[in-house]
Amino acid sequence: MDRLKVLSWSELTEPAGVYPAGIHAAVCEALREHSDVDCRLADITMPEQGLSEESLAWADVVVWFSHVHGSEIHDDLVARIVSHVTEQGMGFVALHSSLISTVFAALMGTTGWHSGWRDDATTEHIHFTAPEHPIAEGMKDFDIPQTEIFFEPFDIPEPEEVVFEGRWDTGEWFRSGCCFTIGKGRVFYFRPGHETYPIFFQPEVRRLLTNCVEWAGKRR
Ligand code: ZN
Repeated sequence: MDRLKVLSWSELTEPAGVYPAGIHAAVCEALREHSDVDCRLADITMPEQGLSEESLAWADVVVWFSHVHGSEIHDDLVARIVSHVTEQGMGFVALHSSLISTVFAALMGTTGWHSGWRDDATTEHIHFTAPEHPIAEGMKDFDIPQTEIFFEPFDIPEPEEVVFEGRWDTGEWFRSGCCFTIGKGRVFYFRPGHETYPIFFQPEVRRLLTNCVEWAGKRR
């Protein structure tokens, strides 16, 4: 089988002090560490906001990080991504705050929003609710030392599987890892990754993200 082709996209608002080369570059580095991938970077400043027909046709999976600019993607480009997922079977992995983007909403058919958030830099306990799922292979429950909390309800259709959830000692929980099949494509929501913490440099997160991207690319 060919190498998995991944387009790692960012809106570039992550702080340079935490992600000097961007979250999208940290994602590529993580994937290369654990898998045989061909990973390219794309961002919102590129022509066609980094989402040319050629680059989407090339990609088996798009990994997406947006936060404050998630609603600024041109409608035709959102439609282009959705069509590559539903018609061509391209995978899509939405990271963390990408849940408030128009592309995630278009894929979900709902708002995709959480019900609020609180950033008090507390530990998220990642608990595998589907330990037999291929995404959970080689993983054990682990902690992310500093995180932002998202609140349920999370306005998404019923996931095909919630592979892992996040739990906080203050009582909150969130469906932090959700699988969907939309048309011919697989979509994964990956909650870890608040941009002010070095979450994508944590070894367990890097391994888990790789499993998710391989699943979205139908390699697991
Ligand atoms: Zn955040």
